[in-house]
Amino acid sequence: PYDVLVVGGGPAGAAAAIYAARKGIRTGVVAERFGGQVSDTMAIENFISVKATDGPKLVAGLEQHVLDYDVDLMKTQKAVRLEKKEFVELELENGAILKSKTVILATGARWREMNVPGEQEYRGKGVAYCPHCDGPLFKGKKTAVIGGGNSGIEAAIDLAGIVEHVTVLEFGDTLRADAVLVKKANSLPNVTIIKNAMTTEVLGDGQRVIGLKYTDRTTDESHLVDVAGIFVQIGLVPNSEFLKDTLELTNRGEIVINAHGQTSIPGVFAAGDVTTTPYKQIIISMGGGATAALGAFDYLIRH
Ligand code: FAD
Repeated sequence: PYDVLVVGGGPAGAAAAIYAARKGIRTGVVAERFGGQVSDTMAIENFISVKATDGPKLVAGLEQHVLDYDVDLMKTQKAVRLEKKEFVELELENGAILKSKTVILATGARWREMNVPGEQEYRGKGVAYCPHCDGPLFKGKKTAVIGGGNSGIEAAIDLAGIVEHVTVLEFGDTLRADAVLVKKANSLPNVTIIKNAMTTEVLGDGQRVIGLKYTDRTTDESHLVDVAGIFVQIGLVPNSEFLKDTLELTNRGEIVINAHGQTSIPGVFAAGDVTTTPYKQIIISMGGGATAALGAFDYLIRH
């Protein structure tokens, strides 16, 4: 069996693998798509000590750093089931079963998409999902936020300090965000909130986003909003479906961990966007991966 088996090859999984391998213990990584969300990222300007980089460069760096150690890297392999027996057993989609003394789950998350024309075409060219990451790219420009829940209203307040104007489009007839956030957003002169708005299309000039179309659900009329950036804030979904009924998840599907990265199953740890850790970011996921690997090592020397 492995000593540490990491599931996921994003920043959390890569950091966990490196920290584990540096202890000289048998380490494996199973990743459906090595690099994770970073592979889909254009500009990265908040990876501390590196002023500016991009996703593919950071992913190449992650892989080189992992392969610098004695790590079994199993790419394009998907985990479908986990069970704790004498060892922790991980079943892959191809039917193989891997055994390990400890497992670190770092399967990340995915942003829920609008599924409207133009969204895929202009992803990274005006369509964005992370205000902490991409907000500054729209300095002085007009932007929209799709979604009036907590993350949408937080994004609007955050962006209002950077961009010229923010239009929030909420599908329902009320905002689902906390009252204190709604009050704050309403007090900002450069934030407009439109309810009953169903976004129907992302408009672009072939290079970049130039606006969006929405339908007013009360009148059925179609409207245009002229914006350079669209932040989609309709939910972050943890990749934990295969763990349902296996270990403790929140009602949103996040894996519950303690300060050492330990889940509800002894010997099973978790890190990054798939967990209850607040603020989903590259540097935070890497820190989580390091914590989980050290937690797993601590567990191994006690068992
Ligand atoms: P992920 O990166 O999601 O990686 C998960 C890994 O697990 C992948 O390898 C995936 O293939 C694998 N996996 C999933 N399910 C399975 C399974 N069943 N079996 C095997 N493998 C599986 N953050 C910043 O700090 N700065 C930025 O500028 C920034 N920009 C972003 C831009 C975009 C467009 C997006 C989408 C995100 C951005 N983020 C940014 C957020 C950042 O990418 C995430 O916080 C970070 O990647 C999370 O790391 P992770 O390792 O937890 O998960």
